[in-house]
Amino acid sequence: MKKKKMKIKRIAVLTSGGDCSGMNATLRSVVRSAIYNGLSVFGVMRGYAGLMNGEIVELNRRFVSNIINRGGTILKTARSKEFKTTKGRRKAAEQLKKLKIDGLIVIGGDGSFKGAHDLGRDWGIKCIGVPATIDNDVNGTDFSIGSDTAVNVALEAIDKIRDTVASLERIFVVEVMGRDSGYLAIRVALSGGAEDVLVPEIKFNMNKICREINAARKKGKISWILIVAEGAGNAQDIARIIKKKTGYETRVTVLGHIQRGGRPTARDRVLAARLGAEAVELLTQGESDKMVGIIADEVKVVNLKFACQKRKDINKSLKLYRLIKTLET
Ligand code: ADP
Repeated sequence: MKKKKMKIKRIAVLTSGGDCSGMNATLRSVVRSAIYNGLSVFGVMRGYAGLMNGEIVELNRRFVSNIINRGGTILKTARSKEFKTTKGRRKAAEQLKKLKIDGLIVIGGDGSFKGAHDLGRDWGIKCIGVPATIDNDVNGTDFSIGSDTAVNVALEAIDKIRDTVASLERIFVVEVMGRDSGYLAIRVALSGGAEDVLVPEIKFNMNKICREINAARKKGKISWILIVAEGAGNAQDIARIIKKKTGYETRVTVLGHIQRGGRPTARDRVLAARLGAEAVELLTQGESDKMVGIIADEVKVVNLKFACQKRKDINKSLKLYRLIKTLET
């Protein structure tokens, strides 16, 4: 006989790991979908750190008013080493059980999903993940919430740099975020018309890059934008090498945390609305240990364990990289 799934009545939601735009829009979707479905919904402040400390408050529809357009997360986010331990997760589970909360929606990246998987496995909490990270490196989804906004925010900055590039004969080295992932760097380079891009996934040769710069100069190209993902190298060091090997003036811009902020794009808000609602729907069906993602514009559900395996889109990155080089000539 099929085991009857327990009916969920009280759920909680938290944002965890690196913040990004669209987390608020996701929270709004979760809270309002939950209330629409007759559930009580609680917000956990400061990710897993707040969960262990019992920073949990009941939310209503008004709590999420006027946040759909705001970057960051009103629930705040945190990283917690303690949660990685059995003792830490026990504390978290006890806090949820005390409030009779049986389902938890985790809005974050692959690290947060590892935590959610462990919490479900050890303590029977029904966990559903919603991917939100600027790196777009979560497995099982074409897009993570926040990645489209990050590309657009960085692009806006690159467009401004291009205005000055066109006026000055300089080589601009622009560092964008991406410790292990070149997603942002490659999209920004392609959409911003950069001459080259350095990403952690693709090997590069500084001698070759400098030879290309010299050859382009001879053909009359007076400016050059090189995008560097932070995981591929230090922008200052790369600029120094270029100056030494070509003799040309270089300028460095590190975009830094501005890439995490900004109003979420329409695309990220639509994704947030769809995935947030689907996460609630899964909990009402008694599902757990799953992540909701988007594949070919359809909402898809995968196991959290599968989602935790970092995606490396080497083939797609290589294709787009070659296109950047084709269009640069
Ligand atoms: P993201 O979710 O953006 O990838 P992190 O990797 O920083 O961000 O993870 C967020 C939090 O998730 C961590 O601070 C930690 O509490 C929890 N976490 C990360 N990795 C694990 C793991 N292997 N096991 C259990 N919890 C984890």
